[in-house]
Amino acid sequence: MITDNDYKIAEDLEGLLYRMALDDPDKAIMAETVARMRENLKKAPRSYQPLNDEEKENNYFLAECDNCGWWGSSGLLDGGGAIADTGDHFDCTCPVCGKVDPDEKSVIKNDHPTHNYRS
Ligand SMILES: [Zn+2]
Repeated sequence: MITDNDYKIAEDLEGLLYRMALDDPDKAIMAETVARMRENLKKAPRSYQPLNDEEKENNYFLAECDNCGWWGSSGLLDGGGAIADTGDHFDCTCPVCGKVDPDEKSVIKNDHPTHNYRS
């Protein structure tokens, strides 16, 4: 179980590594890894869930990755930000394996989805 205090410690660790990176550039890679782990920890409990009402209102869709089997709200996908002022957007990617542009999930296959945390 990941508690709020665990998140706080991971955040502190990330900050510490970024400060150390000022003297040792290798530490920047470690800090970025911790940052990604924190992001994934936040997304894990919201993955493999149908859309809630708020997500439906915000026009999110249910995305499914055919590479690693992850599925969940499109709001959990990485990427998708605007590219400067071009009016274009970066591709969305799977939050687990990074596959570009996961498809919309067609049907929820069963009531007891297999949790698939391969990475
Ligand atoms: Zn994936």
